[in-house]
Amino acid sequence: MPFKDPEKRKQWYEDYGRQLKAKDYEENKEYHAEMGKIWRDKNKEKDQLRHKRYREEHKEQISEHRKIKVTCGCGSTYCMVGKSRHDKTQKHVIYIIEKMHDDNKLVQERTNHILAEWGELLRDH
Ligand SMILES: [Zn+2]
Repeated sequence: MPFKDPEKRKQWYEDYGRQLKAKDYEENKEYHAEMGKIWRDKNKEKDQLRHKRYREEHKEQISEHRKIKVTCGCGSTYCMVGKSRHDKTQKHVIYIIEKMHDDNKLVQERTNHILAEWGELLRDH
């Protein structure tokens, strides 16, 4: 970088550096992806430790969060931890299918309504 003055350097980065960086990223996507992968591998253990520490430090918060009960649109209640299991239950799946059907009907009705209005407009002219 051509500047020793940190203020000027900052300005240069604001004006051009950012764009150059974006351009460089676009042109070297694979390289950056590869470097990112290497970096992540290198930091894997550190990350795992960090996550572990986070879980230990926030034990109560996490278990409170897991206890939160959610009432679903299908009428069932489930705990946060059970969401993915709940999403696969017959009751919920039927509810989603029916909801999609209703939404489709709504779209159909709206379309018909608009078409009818257009029809009237065209008739009037
Ligand atoms: Zn449900």
